[in-house]
Amino acid sequence: MEINYKKPVEKWGEVIYDCGHCRICSLADYHKIGEALTICPSGEYFGFEAYYPPGRNELVRGIIEGSVKPSNKALEVAFACQVCNGCNAMCKPHTYFGFSIKDHSALYEDLREALVLAGYIPEKHLEFGEWIEKDHNPYFETHESRFDWLEEGLTRKDAEVLYFTGCTSSYRQKNIAKATVNALNKAGVSFDVLREEEWCCGSPLLRTGQREKAIEVARHNVEAIKKRGIKTVVTSCAGCYRTLKVDYPILLGKRSVKFDVIHTSQLFVSMLDEKKVSLENMGLDVTYHDPCHLGRHMEVYDKAVYEEPRDVLGLIANIHEMPRNRENAWCCGSGGGVKSAFPDFALWTANERLKEVESVGVDTVVTACPFCVRNLGDANEVFNKKLKVVDLIELVEKTLK
Ligand code: SF4
Ligand code: SF4
Repeated sequence: MEINYKKPVEKWGEVIYDCGHCRICSLADYHKIGEALTICPSGEYFGFEAYYPPGRNELVRGIIEGSVKPSNKALEVAFACQVCNGCNAMCKPHTYFGFSIKDHSALYEDLREALVLAGYIPEKHLEFGEWIEKDHNPYFETHESRFDWLEEGLTRKDAEVLYFTGCTSSYRQKNIAKATVNALNKAGVSFDVLREEEWCCGSPLLRTGQREKAIEVARHNVEAIKKRGIKTVVTSCAGCYRTLKVDYPILLGKRSVKFDVIHTSQLFVSMLDEKKVSLENMGLDVTYHDPCHLGRHMEVYDKAVYEEPRDVLGLIANIHEMPRNRENAWCCGSGGGVKSAFPDFALWTANERLKEVESVGVDTVVTACPFCVRNLGDANEVFNKKLKVVDLIELVEKTLK
């Protein structure tokens, strides 16, 4: 039977013509930041119209209408984008006139799914997709070693709160996993982890058009969480946060997902408000990098988590905002499968962000996502920047009283 590869993008048939190619979405909001700064890493790096959002929208239109056939070039245009949603936040015609694409990232993820169905997928994405099926992580590590970092005696089997660790903290940024567990313990939160029952949240699959595989992992994780009687899932990862909170109900139906999902910054803000914990001010001068999946992505479906990390960080350090902050943030560069399929582009994007860190005269950038920490940290080494890249939860762990 012939596969209708266009199916994932056909639903955009009505609204794709609303893009007026004005290109406002390529720049951060001048009225807020007072400078003409770019927001689309893909267009800036590759330099051709096809890589800017309106060009990518044209590709979707072409696929829907049949004037563009799936090809290796279409694959590169579709996948060389962090699905950071900067364009979505900046698309003023859509925001003001209401004929909205609503979520450019969803549009581009559907474009990818169409290409995947037509047999076009970056080799690296195919490989990590198969590894997730086999060993439930995209890092080519064994499933058995997922919780190697966890010391015994720190979790409780009868807890109603679950720390969903995620793959990056489990395998590549174990410092963040350990800091989260220690901070929760210090704060007196009774929690458990899923251990061998935790699989990749599915974000790398969803962002790279591998939807069927994502549904499988979502089903597994929801079932495992349900079995434990968990009421609240806490995550330190922006990608896991968006995926569990937004995508699982979309993929499986709202009634299947009966637990709350909160980011550690939200948990600590409420504990600080209730005076259950306090933090010591370290007197550091830092800046804060907004993870796309905690900010702009959430703005589309729920509420952007811009202020909570700042509210926590502001008690520990002095925040010097970068010109591009909150909805105007420049992406860390790693998302949407870019770090694996286009590593040079990922590092270039992170380096652009590190230059912005330097521009505000601080040597420390704090963020709230292990994947951002990883890519900014990699660029810091490659470009010999000598900055400190830190996750908020590490500072919370250190300063919690
Ligand atoms: S701002 Fe909106 S309408 Fe204008 S080019 Fe970008 S996506 Fe299209
Ligand atoms: S999602 Fe980000 S990288 Fe992709 S087109 Fe939009 S602004 Fe550019």
